[in-house]
Amino acid sequence: MPRFQRPPVTSFRAEETSSSAASRRAFLKLGCACCAMLAAPSLAFGQTPSPGVAQHLAAAKEAAGSDLTAYLTLGQSADPNFKPESPDLKALMTMPAPPPGKAFDNLYFVGSKWVSCWAITTSAGIILIDAMDNEDEAQRIVEGGLKTLGLDPAEVKTIIVTHGHGDHYGGANYFVDKYKSRVVASEADWTMMETKLEFDSPLWDRPPRRDVSVTDGAKVTLGDTTLDILVTPGHTMGTISPLFDVWSGSQKHRALLWGGTAFNFGKKPERLQAYIGATARALKIAKQQGVDVFISNHSQYDHAVEKLAEKKADGPNPFVLGEATVQRALTVMNECAQATLALWSS
Ligand SMILES: [Zn+2]
Repeated sequence: MPRFQRPPVTSFRAEETSSSAASRRAFLKLGCACCAMLAAPSLAFGQTPSPGVAQHLAAAKEAAGSDLTAYLTLGQSADPNFKPESPDLKALMTMPAPPPGKAFDNLYFVGSKWVSCWAITTSAGIILIDAMDNEDEAQRIVEGGLKTLGLDPAEVKTIIVTHGHGDHYGGANYFVDKYKSRVVASEADWTMMETKLEFDSPLWDRPPRRDVSVTDGAKVTLGDTTLDILVTPGHTMGTISPLFDVWSGSQKHRALLWGGTAFNFGKKPERLQAYIGATARALKIAKQQGVDVFISNHSQYDHAVEKLAEKKADGPNPFVLGEATVQRALTVMNECAQATLALWSS
């Protein structure tokens, strides 16, 4: 049985509430898909940024080096002339899915090119991080991928929904209905999923019914594996970024999965402030815990698909970035948010 602990540690029984929220939910006619803009990592501005903006962009560029430029795309929103292009969700979803793969002994990728689904194997079943866009993808890509990898989809005991956007929860009900999987999300994002969705699309299936609600500092345990829940607000106000151990043979690594990266919430300074705070805090925690693996729920940021393709059984694991690189990635995100806030404040 999965265990879900709130801070401080207490026993937990998930509430079973019914919801007719789906029928109340308005479709927002999504223009900008949840998380992703597949733009080239360039920060060539049409005009010279103000000194306040420039200072943070320079810090972001320096931290990005040549290997973390994917995160630097966040800095585009610090350009006063930047107009985000609306990605074609249907085109993204119809890109052929890459083969599923094994990143670590206990961490598998069963996602598509544009949105990721990670499977953590434990002594008592599987924890999924996110569930893709809809039930068709859950069946075809997640369930199919698990089977291809020799894993039993019936062992999916827990799904952690990183945040309440449909490309992460849309397939959850497939596992809930078929395998009685439990669904974990933050209190803030359960509320959002029950009341008014920030984004929606007819291509996304409905949110799961409220199940396990966690707050910052909670622990989600299944068998021998515990995930520490960081709530990293900004992308949504209840975005979850779990910390957990991954293994390569006898080598243990500490992983942080960032649950929501893009600034796609419109011109809301309080959201950027939250993002700045969340990335600064995560940077401290990464240093304290020696986090050396930093993964995403969109492959455009962590290049998971490319890394799986290049990973060799007897070579170095491309998912092990090292502590300094993880800290640089969080710095890029933080500085790009500060640059954008500087623009909005000018
Ligand atoms: Zn999102």
